[in-house]
Amino acid sequence: MSFDYLEYVQESLDGVREGAGDNVSAACPFCGKANHFSINIENGHWRCFKCDERGLDFAWLIAEVEGLSLERARAFIMRRTVTFRRREVAPESLSDRLRRLRGAPESTQVPEDVLTPLPTEFVPVHGPDGRWSMPEYLLERGMTRNAARHWGLGYCTRGRYADRIVMPIVCPAGSSFTARAALDGMRGARYLNPEEAKHGRLVYGWAGCDGSEWVVLVEGPFDTIRLWQYGTPALALLGKELHRDQLRLLCQLPAVTRIVVMLDPEARGMAEKVASRLSTRFEDIWIAQLPGGADPGDSSGKQVRAALSRAERYTGDRAQALKVAIGLF
Ligand SMILES: [Zn+2]
Repeated sequence: MSFDYLEYVQESLDGVREGAGDNVSAACPFCGKANHFSINIENGHWRCFKCDERGLDFAWLIAEVEGLSLERARAFIMRRTVTFRRREVAPESLSDRLRRLRGAPESTQVPEDVLTPLPTEFVPVHGPDGRWSMPEYLLERGMTRNAARHWGLGYCTRGRYADRIVMPIVCPAGSSFTARAALDGMRGARYLNPEEAKHGRLVYGWAGCDGSEWVVLVEGPFDTIRLWQYGTPALALLGKELHRDQLRLLCQLPAVTRIVVMLDPEARGMAEKVASRLSTRFEDIWIAQLPGGADPGDSSGKQVRAALSRAERYTGDRAQALKVAIGLF
Protein backbone atom coordinates (compact mmCIF):
# COMPACT_ATOMS: atom_id res chain seq x y z
CA MET A 1 0.00 0.00 0.00
CA SER A 2 1.35 3.40 -0.81
CA PHE A 3 0.24 6.92 -0.15
CA ASP A 4 -2.42 8.12 -2.59
CA TYR A 5 -0.94 11.40 -3.84
CA LEU A 6 -3.83 12.08 -6.19
CA GLU A 7 -6.41 11.63 -3.46
CA TYR A 8 -4.55 14.02 -1.19
CA VAL A 9 -4.10 16.63 -3.92
CA GLN A 10 -7.77 16.49 -4.86
CA GLU A 11 -8.80 16.88 -1.24
CA SER A 12 -6.39 19.61 -0.29
CA LEU A 13 -5.32 21.81 -3.21
CA ASP A 14 -7.37 24.28 -5.23
CA GLY A 15 -8.01 24.13 -8.95
CA VAL A 16 -6.81 20.58 -9.47
CA ARG A 17 -6.74 19.49 -13.10
CA GLU A 18 -5.79 16.04 -14.24
CA GLY A 19 -3.77 16.00 -17.43
CA ALA A 20 -2.47 13.17 -19.51
CA GLY A 21 0.14 10.97 -17.85
CA ASP A 22 1.20 11.08 -14.23
CA ASN A 23 1.08 14.84 -13.64
CA VAL A 24 -1.77 16.94 -12.30
CA SER A 25 -1.78 20.70 -11.98
CA ALA A 26 -3.23 22.86 -9.23
CA ALA A 27 -3.00 26.30 -7.66
CA CYS A 28 0.37 26.69 -5.98
CA PRO A 29 0.08 26.51 -2.17
CA PHE A 30 3.21 28.67 -1.87
CA CYS A 31 2.58 31.58 -4.29
CA GLY A 32 -1.11 31.03 -5.06
CA LYS A 33 -0.68 31.12 -8.84
CA ALA A 34 -3.26 28.93 -10.57
CA ASN A 35 -2.31 26.05 -12.87
CA HIS A 36 1.45 26.44 -12.51
CA PHE A 37 1.88 23.92 -9.74
CA SER A 38 2.54 20.38 -10.94
CA ILE A 39 2.46 17.16 -8.92
CA ASN A 40 3.56 13.77 -10.14
CA ILE A 41 0.97 11.42 -8.67
CA GLU A 42 3.18 8.38 -9.17
CA ASN A 43 6.20 9.47 -7.14
CA GLY A 44 4.90 12.53 -5.25
CA HIS A 45 7.45 14.96 -6.69
CA TRP A 46 6.12 18.51 -7.03
CA ARG A 47 7.13 21.83 -8.50
CA CYS A 48 5.77 25.31 -9.14
CA PHE A 49 6.75 26.73 -12.51
CA LYS A 50 5.96 30.24 -11.30
CA CYS A 51 7.75 30.62 -7.96
CA ASP A 52 10.01 27.59 -8.45
CA GLU A 53 9.21 25.96 -5.10
CA ARG A 54 9.87 22.28 -5.60
CA GLY A 55 10.49 19.09 -3.73
CA LEU A 56 11.10 15.39 -4.00
CA ASP A 57 9.66 14.84 -0.55
CA PHE A 58 5.86 15.00 -0.47
CA ALA A 59 5.98 15.56 3.30
CA TRP A 60 7.32 19.09 2.68
CA LEU A 61 4.24 19.89 0.63
CA ILE A 62 1.93 18.48 3.28
CA ALA A 63 3.78 20.45 5.96
CA GLU A 64 3.12 23.67 4.00
CA VAL A 65 -0.50 22.91 3.13
CA GLU A 66 -1.51 21.59 6.54
CA GLY A 67 0.65 23.94 8.59
CA LEU A 68 2.44 21.01 10.21
CA SER A 69 6.02 20.48 11.23
CA LEU A 70 7.90 18.14 8.93
CA GLU A 71 7.75 15.27 11.40
CA ARG A 72 4.02 15.64 11.87
CA ALA A 73 3.62 15.72 8.09
CA ARG A 74 5.54 12.44 7.92
CA ALA A 75 3.28 10.94 10.58
CA PHE A 76 0.31 12.15 8.55
CA ILE A 77 1.58 10.29 5.49
CA MET A 78 2.31 7.22 7.56
CA ARG A 79 -1.19 7.09 8.96
CA ARG A 80 -2.74 7.40 5.53
CA THR A 81 -0.36 4.95 3.91
CA VAL A 82 -1.24 2.03 6.08
CA THR A 83 -4.91 1.54 5.46
CA PHE A 84 -7.27 -0.66 7.33
CA ARG A 85 -10.95 -1.25 7.20
CA ARG A 86 -12.63 -0.56 10.48
CA ARG A 87 -14.61 -3.59 11.44
CA GLU A 88 -17.97 -3.75 13.03
CA VAL A 89 -17.32 -4.39 16.68
CA ALA A 90 -18.42 -7.92 17.48
CA PRO A 91 -21.75 -8.36 19.27
CA GLU A 92 -21.43 -7.81 22.98
CA SER A 93 -19.48 -10.65 24.50
CA LEU A 94 -20.39 -12.37 27.72
CA SER A 95 -17.57 -10.69 29.61
CA ASP A 96 -18.69 -7.26 28.36
CA ARG A 97 -22.26 -7.96 29.36
CA LEU A 98 -21.19 -9.03 32.82
CA ARG A 99 -18.99 -5.97 33.16
CA ARG A 100 -21.81 -3.70 32.05
CA LEU A 101 -24.16 -5.26 34.57
CA ARG A 102 -21.61 -4.67 37.30
CA GLY A 103 -21.09 -1.04 36.21
CA ALA A 104 -18.20 -0.29 33.87
CA PRO A 105 -15.14 1.22 35.54
CA GLU A 106 -13.27 4.07 33.78
CA SER A 107 -10.48 1.83 32.57
CA THR A 108 -12.75 -0.10 30.22
CA GLN A 109 -13.43 2.94 28.02
CA VAL A 110 -12.27 2.66 24.42
CA PRO A 111 -8.71 4.02 24.37
CA GLU A 112 -8.21 7.56 23.16
CA ASP A 113 -5.96 8.06 20.19
CA VAL A 114 -2.25 7.68 20.71
CA LEU A 115 -0.55 9.72 18.01
CA THR A 116 3.18 10.05 18.39
CA PRO A 117 5.02 11.50 15.38
CA LEU A 118 8.24 9.92 14.16
CA PRO A 119 11.47 11.47 15.45
CA THR A 120 12.64 14.56 13.51
CA GLU A 121 15.90 12.77 12.70
CA PHE A 122 14.03 9.88 11.03
CA VAL A 123 15.60 8.71 7.76
CA PRO A 124 13.45 6.24 5.80
CA VAL A 125 15.11 3.11 4.47
CA HIS A 126 13.42 3.84 1.17
CA GLY A 127 13.37 7.58 0.61
CA PRO A 128 10.64 9.53 -1.20
CA ASP A 129 13.17 10.11 -3.99
CA GLY A 130 13.34 6.33 -4.46
CA ARG A 131 16.81 5.99 -2.95
CA TRP A 132 17.64 3.10 -0.67
CA SER A 133 19.72 3.31 2.47
CA MET A 134 19.36 -0.07 4.06
CA PRO A 135 21.23 -0.28 7.38
CA GLU A 136 23.71 -3.12 7.74
CA TYR A 137 21.86 -4.32 10.82
CA LEU A 138 18.70 -5.09 8.85
CA LEU A 139 20.59 -6.94 6.13
CA GLU A 140 22.37 -8.99 8.80
CA ARG A 141 19.02 -9.93 10.31
CA GLY A 142 17.88 -11.22 6.95
CA MET A 143 15.37 -8.51 6.25
CA THR A 144 14.48 -7.91 2.62
CA ARG A 145 14.34 -4.42 1.13
CA ASN A 146 10.76 -5.08 0.21
CA ALA A 147 9.90 -5.85 3.83
CA ALA A 148 11.76 -2.78 5.13
CA ARG A 149 9.87 -0.59 2.68
CA HIS A 150 6.51 -2.24 3.31
CA TRP A 151 6.82 -1.65 7.06
CA GLY A 152 8.07 1.92 6.62
CA LEU A 153 11.30 1.30 8.53
CA GLY A 154 13.95 3.95 8.97
CA TYR A 155 16.77 4.88 11.28
CA CYS A 156 18.38 7.78 13.08
CA THR A 157 22.02 8.80 13.11
CA ARG A 158 21.52 11.66 15.56
CA GLY A 159 19.43 12.54 18.58
CA ARG A 160 17.81 10.38 21.23
CA TYR A 161 17.38 7.50 18.77
CA ALA A 162 20.87 7.61 17.21
CA ASP A 163 22.09 4.24 15.89
CA ARG A 164 18.64 2.72 16.17
CA ILE A 165 16.21 1.22 13.69
CA VAL A 166 12.95 3.13 13.92
CA MET A 167 9.85 1.01 13.40
CA PRO A 168 6.56 2.89 12.98
CA ILE A 169 3.59 1.37 14.80
CA VAL A 170 0.23 2.01 13.17
CA CYS A 171 -3.06 0.53 14.29
CA PRO A 172 -6.66 1.72 14.73
CA ALA A 173 -5.94 2.81 18.33
CA GLY A 174 -3.17 5.19 17.25
CA SER A 175 0.36 5.42 15.96
CA SER A 176 3.78 5.55 17.53
CA PHE A 177 7.16 3.96 16.99
CA THR A 178 9.80 1.90 18.70
CA ALA A 179 13.54 2.22 18.14
CA ARG A 180 15.67 -0.95 18.19
CA ALA A 181 19.36 -0.68 19.07
CA ALA A 182 21.31 -1.47 15.91
CA LEU A 183 24.81 -1.80 17.38
CA ASP A 184 26.23 -4.29 19.84
CA GLY A 185 26.78 -3.11 23.40
CA MET A 186 24.72 0.06 23.08
CA ARG A 187 23.63 1.85 26.19
CA GLY A 188 19.96 2.07 27.01
CA ALA A 189 17.04 -0.19 26.27
CA ARG A 190 17.12 -2.70 23.44
CA TYR A 191 13.87 -1.11 22.32
CA LEU A 192 13.66 2.59 23.14
CA ASN A 193 10.18 4.10 23.04
CA PRO A 194 8.99 7.72 22.98
CA GLU A 195 8.66 9.02 26.52
CA GLU A 196 4.91 9.49 26.22
CA ALA A 197 4.41 6.07 24.61
CA LYS A 198 1.39 4.05 25.66
CA HIS A 199 2.25 0.88 23.85
CA GLY A 200 0.01 -1.26 26.01
CA ARG A 201 -2.77 0.16 23.84
CA LEU A 202 -1.22 -0.60 20.47
CA VAL A 203 -0.30 -3.67 18.47
CA TYR A 204 2.29 -3.84 15.73
CA GLY A 205 1.47 -5.16 12.28
CA TRP A 206 -2.22 -4.37 12.00
CA ALA A 207 -2.09 -3.57 8.31
CA GLY A 208 -0.63 -6.98 7.53
CA CYS A 209 -3.48 -8.86 9.21
CA ASP A 210 -6.61 -7.13 8.08
CA GLY A 211 -9.00 -9.51 6.38
CA SER A 212 -7.00 -12.57 7.39
CA GLU A 213 -8.79 -15.63 8.76
CA TRP A 214 -5.95 -16.34 11.14
CA VAL A 215 -3.18 -14.44 12.81
CA VAL A 216 -0.09 -15.29 14.85
CA LEU A 217 0.52 -13.26 18.02
CA VAL A 218 4.21 -12.57 18.60
CA GLU A 219 6.25 -10.35 20.92
CA GLY A 220 8.21 -7.90 18.81
CA PRO A 221 8.09 -6.03 15.50
CA PHE A 222 10.95 -8.09 14.05
CA ASP A 223 8.90 -11.23 14.69
CA THR A 224 5.97 -9.71 12.79
CA ILE A 225 8.13 -8.73 9.84
CA ARG A 226 9.94 -12.07 9.70
CA LEU A 227 6.67 -13.97 9.64
CA TRP A 228 5.28 -11.54 7.07
CA GLN A 229 8.25 -12.40 4.85
CA TYR A 230 7.08 -16.01 5.05
CA GLY A 231 3.52 -15.04 4.14
CA THR A 232 2.25 -15.48 7.70
CA PRO A 233 0.09 -12.70 9.17
CA ALA A 234 1.40 -11.74 12.62
CA LEU A 235 0.63 -9.09 15.21
CA ALA A 236 3.19 -8.09 17.84
CA LEU A 237 2.14 -7.30 21.41
CA LEU A 238 5.29 -5.20 21.95
CA GLY A 239 5.99 -7.39 24.95
CA LYS A 240 4.99 -10.71 26.48
CA GLU A 241 1.63 -9.58 27.80
CA LEU A 242 -1.75 -9.02 26.23
CA HIS A 243 -3.04 -5.83 27.80
CA ARG A 244 -6.72 -5.10 28.19
CA ASP A 245 -6.70 -2.33 25.57
CA GLN A 246 -4.86 -4.58 23.15
CA LEU A 247 -7.52 -7.24 23.63
CA ARG A 248 -10.17 -4.61 22.88
CA LEU A 249 -8.32 -3.78 19.69
CA LEU A 250 -8.14 -7.44 18.68
CA CYS A 251 -11.91 -7.57 19.07
CA GLN A 252 -12.07 -5.73 15.75
CA LEU A 253 -11.04 -9.07 14.25
CA PRO A 254 -13.97 -11.43 13.69
CA ALA A 255 -14.59 -13.71 16.68
CA VAL A 256 -13.99 -16.73 14.44
CA THR A 257 -10.41 -15.66 13.68
CA ARG A 258 -7.92 -18.41 14.49
CA ILE A 259 -5.22 -17.02 16.77
CA VAL A 260 -1.88 -18.73 17.25
CA VAL A 261 0.20 -17.49 20.19
CA MET A 262 3.91 -17.76 19.36
CA LEU A 263 5.99 -15.99 21.98
CA ASP A 264 9.74 -16.30 22.46
CA PRO A 265 10.79 -19.79 23.61
CA GLU A 266 11.36 -18.93 27.29
CA ALA A 267 7.85 -17.51 27.64
CA ARG A 268 5.69 -20.65 27.75
CA GLY A 269 3.86 -19.56 30.89
CA MET A 270 3.17 -16.14 29.40
CA ALA A 271 1.78 -17.76 26.26
CA GLU A 272 -0.75 -19.63 28.42
CA LYS A 273 -1.75 -16.34 30.06
CA VAL A 274 -2.18 -14.62 26.71
CA ALA A 275 -4.24 -17.55 25.43
CA SER A 276 -6.40 -17.45 28.54
CA ARG A 277 -7.16 -13.75 28.04
CA LEU A 278 -7.93 -14.35 24.38
CA SER A 279 -10.36 -17.11 25.31
CA THR A 280 -12.79 -14.54 26.72
CA ARG A 281 -13.33 -13.35 23.12
CA PHE A 282 -12.06 -15.97 20.71
CA GLU A 283 -12.80 -19.67 20.40
CA ASP A 284 -10.07 -20.92 18.11
CA ILE A 285 -6.80 -20.40 20.00
CA TRP A 286 -3.55 -22.28 19.57
CA ILE A 287 -0.11 -22.15 21.15
CA ALA A 288 2.95 -22.72 18.99
CA GLN A 289 6.60 -22.93 19.88
CA LEU A 290 9.54 -22.84 17.53
CA PRO A 291 11.82 -25.88 17.60
CA GLY A 292 15.22 -25.72 19.23
CA GLY A 293 14.53 -22.58 21.24
CA ALA A 294 14.50 -20.37 18.15
CA ASP A 295 13.06 -16.89 18.32
CA PRO A 296 10.31 -15.98 15.78
CA GLY A 297 12.35 -12.96 14.67
CA ASP A 298 15.36 -15.09 13.70
CA SER A 299 13.61 -18.21 12.49
CA SER A 300 13.66 -19.86 9.09
CA GLY A 301 10.54 -20.41 7.03
CA LYS A 302 10.90 -24.13 7.63
CA GLN A 303 10.99 -23.63 11.40
CA VAL A 304 7.89 -21.44 11.30
CA ARG A 305 5.98 -23.99 9.24
CA ALA A 306 7.06 -26.77 11.61
CA ALA A 307 5.97 -24.77 14.66
CA LEU A 308 2.59 -23.99 13.12
CA SER A 309 1.97 -27.58 12.12
CA ARG A 310 2.75 -28.73 15.69
CA ALA A 311 0.76 -26.01 17.42
CA GLU A 312 -1.45 -27.20 20.26
CA ARG A 313 -5.00 -26.11 20.73
CA TYR A 314 -5.56 -24.08 23.86
CA THR A 315 -8.10 -25.83 26.05
CA GLY A 316 -7.93 -23.69 29.18
CA ASP A 317 -10.86 -22.99 31.43
CA ARG A 318 -12.90 -20.31 29.69
CA ALA A 319 -15.23 -19.73 32.63
CA GLN A 320 -12.21 -19.10 34.84
CA ALA A 321 -10.77 -16.66 32.29
CA LEU A 322 -14.05 -14.76 32.19
CA LYS A 323 -14.09 -14.44 35.96
CA VAL A 324 -10.56 -13.04 35.85
CA ALA A 325 -11.57 -10.67 33.02
CA ILE A 326 -14.41 -9.14 35.00
CA GLY A 327 -12.28 -8.80 38.10
CA LEU A 328 -13.80 -11.48 40.33
CA PHE A 329 -10.27 -12.71 41.07
ZN1 LIG B 1 4.27 28.88 -6.76
